[in-house]
Amino acid sequence: MEPVEDIVIVGAGLAGLATALGLQRRGVKSLVLESSPAIRSSGFALGMWTNAWRALDALGIGGKVREHHILGERLVVLSSSSGATSAELRLKGAQGKIGKHEFRSVKRDSLVEILANELPKDTIRYSSKVVLIKEDGNLKLLHLADGSTIRAKVLVGCDGIYSLVAKYLGLKEPDFSGHLSARGFAEYPTNHGVKPEYLLITGGGFRAGMLPTSERSIYWFFTWRPSKKDKIDQNTTKMREFIIEKLTTSKAPNEIIEVIKKSEMNKVLSSHLRYRSPFSLLNGSITKRNICVIGDALHPMTPDLGQGGCMALEDSVILARYLSDSVYTGNIEKGMEKFAKDRRWRCAEVITRAYVVGFIQQSSNCIVSFLREKVLAKIMAKSLLKTPDYDCGKLRNF
Ligand SMILES: Cc1cc2nc3c(=O)[nH]c(=O)nc-3n(C[C@H](O)[C@H](O)[C@H](O)COP(=O)(O)OP(=O)(O)OC[C@H]3O[C@@H](n4cnc5c(N)ncnc54)[C@H](O)[C@@H]3O)c2cc1C
Repeated sequence: MEPVEDIVIVGAGLAGLATALGLQRRGVKSLVLESSPAIRSSGFALGMWTNAWRALDALGIGGKVREHHILGERLVVLSSSSGATSAELRLKGAQGKIGKHEFRSVKRDSLVEILANELPKDTIRYSSKVVLIKEDGNLKLLHLADGSTIRAKVLVGCDGIYSLVAKYLGLKEPDFSGHLSARGFAEYPTNHGVKPEYLLITGGGFRAGMLPTSERSIYWFFTWRPSKKDKIDQNTTKMREFIIEKLTTSKAPNEIIEVIKKSEMNKVLSSHLRYRSPFSLLNGSITKRNICVIGDALHPMTPDLGQGGCMALEDSVILARYLSDSVYTGNIEKGMEKFAKDRRWRCAEVITRAYVVGFIQQSSNCIVSFLREKVLAKIMAKSLLKTPDYDCGKLRNF
């Protein structure tokens, strides 16, 4: 007979690890199944906004993550066509509705490592790809790629954008946004001397940005809607050449071009950007009795607000609270229902906001460009601070 586990989490990304840690902080054990043979650290860095820092503090690791990452002081938005500043926003110490804002660009591998190291040794099981989910009475029967099976009393899908658990729940597949993204990371032997600012260049069919993570490293990204003429090559050297050419022919500052040139070829990553339609989230089942999805498995979104990972951390803290309470009361279904009620609208709203901001920021349409540079740039910069003005609450007093 297969072993029975109380709570099985599929996926050891941000969402899975943070959920396991949140449960652990409330005295509840879980098992995390990860398909990779070790912790995955793709993606280089993430812009982490106030809501993420509140979640990391609730998990008791905010201090550790802050130690390695510099505080962002300002957001500066430049127009790609004129090079002029279209919006500027103070980030350091900016007052939100709930409290002060905080923004840092965080190395993904460092964050994932800190989360994983806080967990008891036997929590994560690597090389454990779930390939099939079946019902077994009140339990879920999980078939793994190695032929083994595990039975779970509760199943949490944190298995990312192509989530098997989301499919099992009947959620609609994510749609392609029509945009591509490339990301990279430049490392310096000594202090790079770049100001701790989030520099964003918008318009002309692309959106590019650079954010120092520490005094010796800078993360950059470039998002665009490829035209029919663009020959997009997955080869990272050619991809980098393509981006540099696009930036050089616009009024982007030389600073970002130098950072992109400095990043090593194996440090460029490209992705097709997908999102889940907010309507399908509002109408679909995001939980069902003893099963739910969170993170990208629940709300894949375009990266235009830099919120996918921040929202995954919010989800994790909120789910850990409901789930641990319901483990103690014995009513898992109720806990799941509360989670769905709490998250459904927030996720749908943030997906929509990210899509709209991305559309306006990248558009090369002359009317949209005119409005963007005259009024919308400032409104959109403010909307970057609106979404993170959220508190997922605490798990316990640290
Ligand atoms: C270009 C770009 C820029 C971004 N910028 C930001 C940003 O600035 N700020 C921000 O907050 N977010 C950003 N994001 C979003 C962020 O990267 C994601 O939202 C976040 O990483 C999602 O975490 P997750 O744990 O839900 O999923 P993932 O990180 O995808 O983790 C899923 C895990 O599940 C495992 N898995 C999958 N299937 C199975 C299976 N069947 N069995 C076992 N294991 C499985 C995978 O191996 C993986 O480890 C960006 C995304 C992109 C594409």
